[in-house]
Amino acid sequence: MNVPFVDLHAQYLTIKPQIDAAIGEVISESAYIRGSHVEAFEAGWSRVTGMKHCVSCANGTDALYIAMRGLGLKPGDEVITTAHSWISTTETITQAGGRVVFCDTDYQSFTIDPAQIEAKITPRTVGIIPVHLYGQSADMDAIMEMARRHRLWVVEDCAQAHLATFKGRQVGTFGNAATFSFYPGKNLGAYGDAGAIVTNDARLAEWMATYARHGGKGEHLMEGINSRLDGLQAAILNVKLPHLARWTELRQAVARQYDGLLGNIDVLVTPQVVPGRDHVYHLYVIRTDKRDALKKHLADQGISSVLNYPKALPFYPAYAYLGHKPEDFPIAYANQSRILSLPIYPEMTADMIYHVAATIRQFLGK
Ligand SMILES: *Cc1c(COP(=O)(O)O)cnc(C)c1O
Repeated sequence: MNVPFVDLHAQYLTIKPQIDAAIGEVISESAYIRGSHVEAFEAGWSRVTGMKHCVSCANGTDALYIAMRGLGLKPGDEVITTAHSWISTTETITQAGGRVVFCDTDYQSFTIDPAQIEAKITPRTVGIIPVHLYGQSADMDAIMEMARRHRLWVVEDCAQAHLATFKGRQVGTFGNAATFSFYPGKNLGAYGDAGAIVTNDARLAEWMATYARHGGKGEHLMEGINSRLDGLQAAILNVKLPHLARWTELRQAVARQYDGLLGNIDVLVTPQVVPGRDHVYHLYVIRTDKRDALKKHLADQGISSVLNYPKALPFYPAYAYLGHKPEDFPIAYANQSRILSLPIYPEMTADMIYHVAATIRQFLGK
């Protein structure tokens, strides 16, 4: 039995008539850029997140860049973030003119360790970007408390955490702004690139929307960039949005089955959910010292698995200039050789889940 890492086609087949009709509609209306489908998605995503304003844009990376420009990042400003994320989180800090300051992660949740943040705050620190990695919230109580005390802004990177909650409150509602990606493989995925920023700050929303559309349509109030959600992607997202809650529950059900089948193996650590956090399982990431051999064994048995990510960010050549050593981020460094993401998506069958788990148990001799 082959088990792909994700199966976007399987999901498409469950909503094919609606998707095909929506695509047909956009084409018959020539509603390719902006227009009613984009407006409907912005309104829908505001409603789902419970935030007043949603500014759609071309992808989740632009969302971070636009948010930081909107918050007035200036050259030399320092932004504190996690050592363990996708590079979008940090490349955009640099591009927006700031300096990246890394923190180690918390062992349980893979998210930024709040205990590390305080020591990294300097007079030049302006903001914090927590990443709700793999679909589990960072410790937003501790992060927001520190941000208030030091007057820092917070941008939540929610690219992997649609609908995740912290103490019953949705991620993306804590900080000054929150960014989302709708890349095809994300929990809510378009059929191409797509992204959005949500905020309750009307002035920030207005600035970001203007900046992302060439600094204003009729009157160019400033130089901006071109970062738009296109009509086709918006129409596709509008069809998918009503299914997101159910798809999230199905992901959680897959995770529970994996937990039951893999939870009692001493040489393997299944995802740990901190009490009070509702994990939405963008990724199901196990840890084992036998990671590389296990990954190869799974591949030999037709099971795809992925490293998210092969290295912690400070150890990529892109950040060699910071001169970090493994002991600067012991948890993130130890995780980089142990993590393995198993297939997880709403359409996975019980047989597939069982096959993945049985193959792992067999390999580990358990
Ligand atoms: C996917 C992702 C992004 C960027 O989203 P794109 O839409 O691919 O640009 C940013 N941060 C994290 C943590 C992500 O996983």
